[in-house]
Amino acid sequence: MNIILLGPPGAGKGTQARIIEKSYGMVQLSTGDMLRAAVAAGSEVGQRAKAVMESGGLVSDEIVIGIISDRIDEPDCAKGFILDGFPRTLGQAAALETLLQSKGIKLDAVIEMRVDDEKLVERITGRYTCGACGEGYHDTFRTPKVEGVCDNCGASDFKRRADDNEETLRARLLAYYKETSPLLGYYFAKDNLVSIDGMAEMSEVTNQLKSILNDGAN
Ligand code: AMP
Repeated sequence: MNIILLGPPGAGKGTQARIIEKSYGMVQLSTGDMLRAAVAAGSEVGQRAKAVMESGGLVSDEIVIGIISDRIDEPDCAKGFILDGFPRTLGQAAALETLLQSKGIKLDAVIEMRVDDEKLVERITGRYTCGACGEGYHDTFRTPKVEGVCDNCGASDFKRRADDNEETLRARLLAYYKETSPLLGYYFAKDNLVSIDGMAEMSEVTNQLKSILNDGAN
């Protein structure tokens, strides 16, 4: 199946995409991860995106559409993909539609993860990941079993995203409400939208997603 996870920063799209990726053999396509990798590599795209990302704004449609178009052509995407953080504007949604049509790929569902705004700040400002394997942690909600050691791979190098601070989050939320939230109406009108409760326990959110995926597979 091919799905889009839609929701504000901190809704849990990345966390859930990583879980679904493992259990369903689908591929997580996170434009945020791809852009961070481009910034770290110092590529031309990375240089163009860096300042915008640090300010919490949106990188140009042209850049992200180019990245996604190339990535979807890779063979692992044939197993099904989870778009995480793309599309984020109506222009990106329209470009995605054209792109998928031209490649004969069907979009099975757009899943909105609903979370209250005040929760987002709490979630984002406390989160960090393992620098080696990418496992996600949180100062309050999920600390490693052994302090300073990743539960998943045993590494002890953790990272926090530069844009996971309260000030940048406000800008990211604003970008979400101005540019991305209209996509909910867009996909509702196309009869593609399903909403789930992103405030539930992490495992319960996964169950809601799995039930959508299992229904779609039948
Ligand atoms: P994320 O990891 O999805 O929170 O994305 C981090 C940052 O990357 C965003 O705040 C944007 O600056 C940029 N970004 C990621 N995906 C997109 C997109 N689809 N369109 C525009 N900018 C994006």
